[in-house]
Formats: sequence, C-alpha cells, structure tokens
Amino acid sequence: MKKIALISPKGNAFGKNNKLNEFLNETSGMQSFRALWTGPNLGLITIAGLFPKDWEVDYIDENYKEIDYEKKYDIVCISSMTQQIVNAYQIIDKFKKLNILTVIGGIHSTILPDEAMQHADVVMVGEGEVIWPQFILDYENGSVKKIYRDDSEKRFQFENHIIPRYDLLKDYNYQIITIQTTRGCPHNCSFCCASKVFGSGYRRKNNSNILEELKTIKKMYPDALVLFADDNFFVNRKNSKKLMQEMIRMNIRWLAQTDVSISQDEELLELMVLSGCQWVVIGFESVHHDSLYQLDDRNWKLKHLPGYTQAIEKIQSFGIGVYGTFIIGLDEDNIGVFDETENFIKQSKLYGVNITVPTPLPGTRLRDKMYEENRILVNDWSYYTFWDVNIKPSKMKISELEDGLLRLYKNIFDEAQVRQRLLHMKYLAKRRKLILNKIK
Ligand code: SF4
Repeated sequence: MKKIALISPKGNAFGKNNKLNEFLNETSGMQSFRALWTGPNLGLITIAGLFPKDWEVDYIDENYKEIDYEKKYDIVCISSMTQQIVNAYQIIDKFKKLNILTVIGGIHSTILPDEAMQHADVVMVGEGEVIWPQFILDYENGSVKKIYRDDSEKRFQFENHIIPRYDLLKDYNYQIITIQTTRGCPHNCSFCCASKVFGSGYRRKNNSNILEELKTIKKMYPDALVLFADDNFFVNRKNSKKLMQEMIRMNIRWLAQTDVSISQDEELLELMVLSGCQWVVIGFESVHHDSLYQLDDRNWKLKHLPGYTQAIEKIQSFGIGVYGTFIIGLDEDNIGVFDETENFIKQSKLYGVNITVPTPLPGTRLRDKMYEENRILVNDWSYYTFWDVNIKPSKMKISELEDGLLRLYKNIFDEAQVRQRLLHMKYLAKRRKLILNKIK
C-alpha cells in the first residue's frame, strides 16, 4: 500500500512581535479569530479525496500533531501560505534527506514556483483538483515531472467537485469545519492575490453539491460550527437563498465571509438567521476615506464607506454578529487613524474585530509598489504574518505603527469595552430569538 502524508505546517497566529503576540494570545476576545486561523486545511483534505482507495493517506496538521519522520512515506506533500513557507521548506528538506519524494502546493508556491523548486522535488502551480490527477497517474507510471501547472484558461469547474475527506479530521478537535463553495474575485484588492490566482470571475459549486458536503460534515461532526471559507459566500444571491432554504432543515450553525451589501437584502438576512448563521466576517479594510481610494480596482469599498455603520447596525439587528477586519498603516494613514478606527469600532458595536498591518505578499499589487519604492524592510517570509511590520509606512514611523496597533487592541479589549461587547452579544441573542419567533 502506498503511503502519502499531507502536511499543513505550523504558522504563527499573531506574529512575531512579542508585546503584541503576548497580548493577543491572552485576550479571550481573539480566541474566535484563533479558531478561524487554526481550522483544517481544506486544500489538503480535498486532494486526499483524489487518491485511489488503496492509498494510505495521513493528514497532519502541525498545529496539533507532531510529524513522524520515521514513518516510511512514499510521498510527502505540503500546502503552505507565505508565513508558513520557511517552516514548510525545513520540513521538506528533512524528508528529502530521507529520500522521500516531496511535493509542495498552495498559494505561495503557485506565485513563486522557482523558489519552491529549490526545496521540493515537485511543485504544484495552480488549483489542486486540476493538477493532482495527472500527478497521480504519472507517479503510478513512474514518470513524475518537476512541475505541474493548471491551464488558467480552463480553471477548475466546480460541477466536477470532489468531496473533501472530512473523515481525516476525526483525530483533531477542530472547533470549526470549513467548506468552500466559490472561488475567484473581481475586486483585485492591492494586498490580496485572490483575483490573480483564482481569476476575476466567480465560480460556484451548485447547490446540490454544497448540500452533499454539508450533510457529510453534519453526519461526522454534528456540533461543529461550519465556516464557508469563500471570499464572498453570497456572490450568487438567488442560488444562495435557495441553498439557505434547504439548510433550514439541517440544523447547523454556520458563519461566512461576505461584504456590506447583504445589509440591503432583508429576505437574505432572514434566511441567514433561519438557516443557522451565527456571524459574518466582513473586510472593511479601513474607515479612513483616502486609504480606501484605489484599494480595490473599482473603489467598491470606498463607495460603501459612508454606509458602513448603518450596514453593521442592520445586519446585527437580525441577531447576526458582524466580525470586522481592518488594515492599519495603509499609505494614506497618519497617526490619527488609530483613534478614527477605535471610534468606529466602538460606535458601530462590532461583534468582533481583527486588525492587521499591510503585508506585501508575493503576487500582490502592494508588493510591486513597495518594491518599486524600495520600502520592503523584511524579506524573511516568516515575518509575513499580517501583524509584523515589514514595509516602511508612508505617513508614520515604524514604531508609531507598532505601538499604535498594540494600543488600539488594548483599548478595544479593555475591561469596559469587553463588558459592553458582552452586553451587546446578549442583545444580539435576544434579537435573534425575536426574529426566529416572528418568522415562525
Ligand atoms: S481582499 Fe477579498 S475582495 Fe479583495 S481581492 Fe481579496 S478576496 Fe477579493
């Protein structure tokens, strides 16, 4: 029996800045974020679904389990994002010394295959569902190539979806189980490479496939919180509504990433509550007008900025918490941005927050700009955590950005604020009950 290890390498949830890391690690309000960050690696368990039944597949999440270097694997595959990549390369180097075939995939190696090739025997460039079947065939025929690329003209069509091997997660006590229903994004935000890697058009699984996956999850993990790990879950409003009508009977609790436009659709919000939505994650990015300018290709977020507060109020009035994400230290941010953001967070009564610094990930417009302006301070990928400052800010000093970020977090999570947030959560729970009773 052939044996393959699918490894998700350890990352660094809150960065390497000791003061910030210590504070965030001890802050209970950030635990929901930690649970999101340390959820299962969906890419790996999807690839696992491609292997013939007579292969032994080990899924190893290094955040929870040690890697067994003694086990005689035939292939070791690692999927890694940028901040995990240094660790990923170290793991690969160790397995290579043991003469085990090593394969690397994921966003970082898709953008920088030449770098990945210096470590792994085989580099996967693009979407796993497209390239792995060919690799498996080649492996079985003894003709493995050095690099496998998908043809970006023919991106993976979700009708041919593969049910991820959710059974491989049984050994882990994940609080959240992820499912993906869409890929692609038209916004092309300066700090994100989703549009480049997955294309600018949305692709979505059909509802029957999504329901099949949800049923599988529900059967194996009846109490799990399901995260729709899409960049935007509601891109096809009509089909999303149909899906949620079906989900009402399933009795699941779920959360999703989306944008503020859902606040304008009461029918959608009602269906979300009925089908078990607990909270949504929305990338507001900034509340500073000039910083949103040209952040995305169409200034979509800038246009919606004046309605941010009302949108949050509306969504939360349905008993659905809004978890807002922000980036501090954008080029138009001066030191006033800390107070501006803090006031917005307090006034809008956001259910939860996550605030990070601009990170010039490979493949992003931000990296190109920082490179041209000679403002990249750190090239060690392990510092590309979203909490470590690695570009020279434009309108403040590095120390002002670091200290301002820590102060902002401390102010948001001070005792009085936490108490207020807890009260607001209770209010949201009551609203939710009211909505549910009203609709019944
Ligand atoms: S940040 Fe979100 S909206 Fe912007 S390009 Fe990435 S996925 Fe799309």
